[in-house]
Amino acid sequence: MIPRVGVLSLQGDFACHRSSLEALGVEAVRVVLPEHLRGLAALLMPGGESTTMLRLMDTNGLRQPLTEFVREHPVMGTCAGVILLGREGERLPFPPLGVLDVSVERNAYGRQIDSFSAELESSVVAGPYQGVFIRAPRIRRVGHGVEVVATLPGPGARGGTPVGVRQGRVVGLCFHPELTSDLRFHRWFLGDVAGVALAASAAVLDPAAVGDPESPEPA
Ligand code: GLN
Repeated sequence: MIPRVGVLSLQGDFACHRSSLEALGVEAVRVVLPEHLRGLAALLMPGGESTTMLRLMDTNGLRQPLTEFVREHPVMGTCAGVILLGREGERLPFPPLGVLDVSVERNAYGRQIDSFSAELESSVVAGPYQGVFIRAPRIRRVGHGVEVVATLPGPGARGGTPVGVRQGRVVGLCFHPELTSDLRFHRWFLGDVAGVALAASAAVLDPAAVGDPESPEPA
């Protein structure tokens, strides 16, 4: 049976995560309502606007079922997804889900125009990795039991900061792995963290698989 992995689709980027999941032989399921969580092996919480996603979670009756799901299943949040999973973030309309013991500062690397791409150091993917940061949150506090799995190398204004963390089955990445063709973080999350049996051995996305008519909307 093909494993089914959800992508929270209240707002933000579904299409690119779907391309990455499908390249790894996994079915991507849109999660908008509580019943969509049924039977999922894991969940991705994409980038977007964390304030909007928290509001829509409330409107769609997803907050409680989602909280239960992420307490019991593997979940990977990317960019705004880290804010949703964390313990504390500022200027949020509702508290985040609190399953990742980190505190984040939103938009801490600058505004949209300051978006950047930089080489990361990571203990979980071999070799250099180019991370894409779009109005990314900065992890200001890492709790006990949280492992740093990726950093922006220092020195410099951004240097030495954790940009990828793992606490058991919960992963938070401040960058957007779905916006590159490099599948290594999706592969690591699905295979090593979530224990999903992957049929496809691809490490890089086939460009022919991209070009989805649904345009991605990273905030
Ligand atoms: N700045 C956004 C927020 O605070 C996150 C940006 C992103 O996900 N690319 O929610």
